[in-house]
Amino acid sequence: MKKLLPTSTAGSLPKPSWLAQPEALWSPWKLQGQELIEGKHDALRVSLHEQQQAGIDIVSDGEQTRQHFVTTFIEHLTGVDFENRRTVKIRDRYDASVPTVVGNVSRPKSIFVEDAKILRQQTKQPIKWALPGPMTMIDTLYDDYYQSREKLAWVFAKILNQEAKELEAAGVDIIQFDEPAFNVFFDEVNDWGIACLERAIEGLKCETAVHICYGYGIKANTDWKKTLGAKWRQYEEVFPNLKKSNIDIISLECHNSRVPIELLELIRGKKVMVGVIDVATDSIETPEEVAKTLREALKYVDADKLYPGTNCGMAPLSRAVAGEKLKALSAGAAIIRKELLLSN
Ligand SMILES: [Zn+2]
Repeated sequence: MKKLLPTSTAGSLPKPSWLAQPEALWSPWKLQGQELIEGKHDALRVSLHEQQQAGIDIVSDGEQTRQHFVTTFIEHLTGVDFENRRTVKIRDRYDASVPTVVGNVSRPKSIFVEDAKILRQQTKQPIKWALPGPMTMIDTLYDDYYQSREKLAWVFAKILNQEAKELEAAGVDIIQFDEPAFNVFFDEVNDWGIACLERAIEGLKCETAVHICYGYGIKANTDWKKTLGAKWRQYEEVFPNLKKSNIDIISLECHNSRVPIELLELIRGKKVMVGVIDVATDSIETPEEVAKTLREALKYVDADKLYPGTNCGMAPLSRAVAGEKLKALSAGAAIIRKELLLSN
């Protein structure tokens, strides 16, 4: 990216109400069959247009073709039974009804590659595509076959690598792996989680990112955050090993979060997507608030490695709110870009 402080979102954006029930996670589709396929692609174009209108530099599909960032990927794999559901505690935090792994897991064909090609055809801007990370995938399932979180994570890492290579060939510039589980299971992250992530990016020439956050602005997450105390130091547990890893970019949450910003020092040298938009509130940041968070981040991240973004996906927000937040993101980044140019 040649532009200084290129903006992007962490991933999901609200879906149009004709495609799925708005302001909800795991919202069921309103269309079926061919209508659904066309509807998803129309929504992808609308979402891209909204990002462009807001001045976002690195654009995405807004995850319009996904019902959920993990389960939609898993739906396309063999060995997972969606009828046979179990209730598990996701991220050690909230109960969810999830599918069961009942046999050898494999990816018979590509999952998002056709969608990525459609996005690629629509724009010459850099595009980012999000995939779930291996550890977050195993944490969103019930495993009745491998009987080992680590074993299943390695299987997913290999599958993700196949998908990522095809996304790269389709012209995706940045492939991002969403790993909110990295904020919870520190021993596993350091034992094999980061190694699995590196397996998922093996051989890729495009840029790679890992997104680690405190989740969507849903009640289970806001309740959990209340228990974390005045300073959220979770990143401290995984940053030292992430810094040593081959991942190019680390995407994290910052604005309105209690993460001590100096923890960014632990990953100095990496590119950092800094969340300057709070996704857990409807109140719209002012450009100056965005600029203020960026100024803080610049104390620990070199300007050419700073990528302003959102704390997490915005799927559960209303379209109007998400749209205004995107504009604030652009306007705030523009303030700092100007300051940096003036000071040079
Ligand atoms: Zn997130």
